[in-house]
Amino acid sequence: MTTYLACMGTRPEIIKMAPIYRTLKAQGEDVQVLHTGQHEEVAQALYTFFDMDPDFQIQLKRQTPTLSNLTAELLQGIDGVIDKVKPDVVLVQGDTASALVGAMAGYYRDVPVAHVEAGLRTGQHDPFPEEKNRELIGRLAHWHFPPTPQAADNLRREGISAQQIFEVGNTVIDAALWVKTQMDQDGASDALPAEVRRFMQDHAASRLMLVTAHRRENWGRPIQLIASAVGVLLRLHPELVVVWPLHPNPSVRADIQNAFSVLGAECRQRLCLTDPLEYPALISLLAHAHFCLTDSGGIQEEASAFKCPVLITRDSTERQELVEAGGAALVGTDPHRIVEQASALLNDPWAYRAMQVQESPFGDGHSAQRIADVLTCARSTH
Ligand code: UDP
Repeated sequence: MTTYLACMGTRPEIIKMAPIYRTLKAQGEDVQVLHTGQHEEVAQALYTFFDMDPDFQIQLKRQTPTLSNLTAELLQGIDGVIDKVKPDVVLVQGDTASALVGAMAGYYRDVPVAHVEAGLRTGQHDPFPEEKNRELIGRLAHWHFPPTPQAADNLRREGISAQQIFEVGNTVIDAALWVKTQMDQDGASDALPAEVRRFMQDHAASRLMLVTAHRRENWGRPIQLIASAVGVLLRLHPELVVVWPLHPNPSVRADIQNAFSVLGAECRQRLCLTDPLEYPALISLLAHAHFCLTDSGGIQEEASAFKCPVLITRDSTERQELVEAGGAALVGTDPHRIVEQASALLNDPWAYRAMQVQESPFGDGHSAQRIADVLTCARSTH
């Protein structure tokens, strides 16, 4: 039996690692979960939902709010767990500090590292520091699991041996389809918190735009601009309803709430500002949404699994595949562009249909099995 140490700490990492955890466990492998504590508020509900309770947890002190301090704390904490577990493989996902430091700690202990969702690049400084994190993990990992041909090309261009690159799709699609199937069996509206459920029942015949904004580069003025565009859209389109799960940061929330203070009562009752949603609730809304307006990477990918068009409130994306397939458009944070593109999706059925991709470029729901196959085959010939 192989011992895996799955190292994760943020919402998207937990969601994208869960299908691999479940697949390896189902095959009888020993998978130890290390929670680094990077996202504390939302983590436990996700671990419980995926039946993946952490075996180890790092207690971050975060006395200084710098990346260097976080890195130092993570490195010590993860190294201590590697020393105890003595894993055969360290699994990391994506581009967070937890992923980079997990890869470093594995490398320093000479334990081979598997990088899930490898090869994403914007080729620019932003997103900072994620772009550099994933590049650095690319130098440290032994197995690279890019989700798409484009991501695999990026890795080859950086000189990584073709024998170490396995294009497998993105496990985010496995998770989203799995949750959707569970909800179809159990009743999807049960996943929604009461206020959102009531809101959706009151506006059952309307068209839903799901909005999220969490990227640090959009905090402040850009988020106010996004909110003002949403206000204009509500005024222009009486059939539109908006659900916006707000970022927990108080000043981000205040910016958004203030931007809507001038909205008339009729428009206001078609807007639902709510707390961050639990993952099944988010998927339930995404599966019903007419389209979404978001800066989230994971939501761009998940939306493609539900043929839901995406307007991306960024100037560049490392998920260019969906833009190229026609399922997403980069609109930045300029209110005119947002209003124009969103109005086209609401007014023009042809424009709408053109943005409904028939097949997600990010995966088919079987990525975790492919990863498990590569790892178990490599370990059995070790
Ligand atoms: N998500 C969630 N609740 C929310 C907003 C997002 O469960 O209120 C999920 C979403 O389904 C996706 C993941 O969080 O799987 C994306 O995380 P985030 O947007 O924080 O990060 P990114 O994907 O941009 O790295």
